[in-house]
Amino acid sequence: MGPVSQVTAPPATLLRAFAQVMGEAHVLTGDAAAGFGVDWTGAFTGSPAAVLRPGSTAEVAQALRLCADAGLAVVPQGGNTGLAGGGVPLHGEAVLSLARLDGLGAPDPEASQVTAGAGVTLQRVADAGRGLDFGVHIASRASATVGGAIATNAGGLRVLRYGPMRAQLRGIEAVLSDGTVVSHLAGLVKDNTGYDYPSLLAGSEGTLAVVTAARLRLVPRAPDPVTAVAGLPDAAAVHELAQRAMREVPGLLSAEFFGQRGLAVLAERAGVAPPLAVPAPVYLLLEAAGPGAADDLAALVGDVPVAVAVTAADRARLWACRERHPEVAGFLGTALKLDVAVPAHRWVRLATGVAEVVAAADPGAEVIAYGHVADGNLHVNVVPAAPADGRHQDAVFSFVAGLGGSISAEHGIGALKARWLPLSRSPAELALFARIRRAFDPAGILNPHVLPR
Ligand SMILES: Cc1cc2nc3c(=O)[nH]c(=O)nc-3n(C[C@H](O)[C@H](O)[C@H](O)COP(=O)(O)OP(=O)(O)OC[C@H]3O[C@@H](n4cnc5c(N)ncnc54)[C@H](O)[C@@H]3O)c2cc1C
Repeated sequence: MGPVSQVTAPPATLLRAFAQVMGEAHVLTGDAAAGFGVDWTGAFTGSPAAVLRPGSTAEVAQALRLCADAGLAVVPQGGNTGLAGGGVPLHGEAVLSLARLDGLGAPDPEASQVTAGAGVTLQRVADAGRGLDFGVHIASRASATVGGAIATNAGGLRVLRYGPMRAQLRGIEAVLSDGTVVSHLAGLVKDNTGYDYPSLLAGSEGTLAVVTAARLRLVPRAPDPVTAVAGLPDAAAVHELAQRAMREVPGLLSAEFFGQRGLAVLAERAGVAPPLAVPAPVYLLLEAAGPGAADDLAALVGDVPVAVAVTAADRARLWACRERHPEVAGFLGTALKLDVAVPAHRWVRLATGVAEVVAAADPGAEVIAYGHVADGNLHVNVVPAAPADGRHQDAVFSFVAGLGGSISAEHGIGALKARWLPLSRSPAELALFARIRRAFDPAGILNPHVLPR
């Protein structure tokens, strides 16, 4: 999917004004800007009008004021690991990169909180304090940033225990498109003093305000985690075991599903070692920590074939089987990342039916499915054989909507799913979205092609 409109370079006077705000080295155009126009999957390619790399909240505010005055649309960008094409300039917008806002405060051990700049990676937040960890754990954590994770309300591998990014937010600092800075970073757990706009910014995909910093909840680092991968006959067995794990393993951190096809590709293309000597059709990875975790997991799996790891190296080996699954479709072609969720009791129907639904639309397409089974979430990665003209989204999203599900579990709507949002949201809701948006960004310059206006 390429750019749909002609890129107009900003006038030299505007580029000079940006350079005065943040320094010439941080205003990029032409070849220097090109890398900011392509997403992680390679499916979305645009050309930025310019790339602006402010180094402070004040610089973000001045840059946005200049953009608003000039009517220059802006796409905020963090680590550029987003999977819905919402962070790349498909319509010739300027990219506002927040990567230089990478200041990380000292963690507050009494509150178990830390203040992080928008450009801090999630891995750095997780490593911020001894004995502390961050609740959002995603495979892209070494590159994904606090600002991007808030803007997408990232989920990941421990949502069943700690919730998504929105649940980690204890405060936010953000800049509106007119340059107004709003800041609420005291980190009070109890604070009913009006609208909770930090929560509204979670999942706003860069359309309401530019996040510049956040106050984040930290969690105790889980002691001695145990990781187990069970080989199972089918998706129904995966779902049943995951449901039992949530009830019977109090220290459960993760319950993750993947299949033999994806694992075989990883073994062949990336040298990932399979967890079990005898391959199984599908696998469930369970991780638990705390007193009795190993015994609880052993009692849960019974005589199911299972690989168990307790050392960091062995656990990493098992986790590679799941965490490297987002790469599988990329080894086979250019992937469409369709990330969906359904009510728990419909998950088996989704997991067993989705390949057939894609095949009806494109018989030659390859489907790699994996995901966060405990959250009713399935990542449906499609490598099309037929043109990627929307037929794959039509098929998968209609199926999901028919099951009462969501067309975006955790990656957001972005450019990838914009057309299909009415399958998940009513006209009244979409109209409310547009009104909220106008209140935050009357100039209409923030990520104008993402979410309804
Ligand atoms: C290998 C891999 C595994 C992944 N696994 C998961 C997973 O398990 N769960 C999950 O939820 N996601 C996952 N993702 C997707 C992605 O990592 C997350 O969406 C992440 O939160 C994006 O962060 P980012 O900094 O890269 O944001 P970007 O990609 O740069 O931007 C994403 C969106 O946020 C907006 N944005 C970025 N920064 C700001 C800001 N400061 N203020 C306002 N808006 C902003 C952008 O405009 C865009 O709409 C995965 C991605 C990869 C590549």
